[in-house]
Amino acid sequence: MLKDKAKGFYIRHVLRKQVPISFDKNNTVSFLDAEPLTTGRVYCIINFDDLSPLPDQSKFIGRGGSKHDFVSLKQMELLQQFPFLGITHFMIPQFLPSDHYYLFNRQHFSIINPVNREWLDYYKSLMANFNIEIASHGVYHRQVGNPLFARHTEFAYLDYNESVERLKLSLHMFHEAGFNPIGFRAPGWDMNSDLSLIDAVADTGFKYAGLSSYDGGLNAVKQRVNQYHPVFIKGIINFPDNINIDWPFETIKGTIDKIVSLNGIIVIKGHFSKHILTNSLSETNYLKLVETVRYIRKTYSETVEFATFADVYSKLAAKYANGRKQ
Ligand SMILES: [Zn+2]
Repeated sequence: MLKDKAKGFYIRHVLRKQVPISFDKNNTVSFLDAEPLTTGRVYCIINFDDLSPLPDQSKFIGRGGSKHDFVSLKQMELLQQFPFLGITHFMIPQFLPSDHYYLFNRQHFSIINPVNREWLDYYKSLMANFNIEIASHGVYHRQVGNPLFARHTEFAYLDYNESVERLKLSLHMFHEAGFNPIGFRAPGWDMNSDLSLIDAVADTGFKYAGLSSYDGGLNAVKQRVNQYHPVFIKGIINFPDNINIDWPFETIKGTIDKIVSLNGIIVIKGHFSKHILTNSLSETNYLKLVETVRYIRKTYSETVEFATFADVYSKLAAKYANGRKQ
């Protein structure tokens, strides 16, 4: 494993690219003075990364390729028990997983490949019956600009123009599939250290992005953006991620209490895979999610409303215009 310094040297002098934000110790950009955006409610969003037509047996991240997959069944159980939930899926429109790689058919896991039509129709029927939003998680999830490491960070080595092209392709694929995403999250969180990805997201017409966890994306190396409230950054709204489904339940509860007291936004994040990552939608994490929803219902029935990011975006858009309060 290369040390960070050696990696930085390799990126700057061999690849001749900007280092991604996660390597830039000197980047002083901060959005911490941006006004926290609020409405009269505290919203709770459940969101998953990596939904794609990838089958259950893949060793890679991303799942839900069949309605009979473990994660699909768990999602259905969750929705049947709590039909009022909002779920935002950051979907990969043309996943290129390393263990099911079709060299001569890169379209295999494309959402517009006719072989995935049944899968697509299943998601459309779910959206017709429940509050489910499909947002963009790039195109391929993988990057080829740096073959040595961090292959899962699709946008880490793309400059502004390349990002715009990739985001346009993403939108094109979603539109072809019959979706109209207004939100985006960068696969693997990372982005070019000039942060031109944010401009590209705004310039291609997205309304919001989820570009930060506690230590990922905009908050890599140091905190640059609010962890508990949405804020405007460069013309779009950034929604933070602030609760992981693999946390101990007491930590989840404490964080919810804190966010409610701050009139913030509760964003519960997991990966739509069974067991690949610690915050996958495993049986254990599923049960914790159920317990979390019950806790919010019991403790904050008057305060907290379940929603998708798109729902919250439309509430914020109604209150704020062009980055200013109306
Ligand atoms: Zn992802």
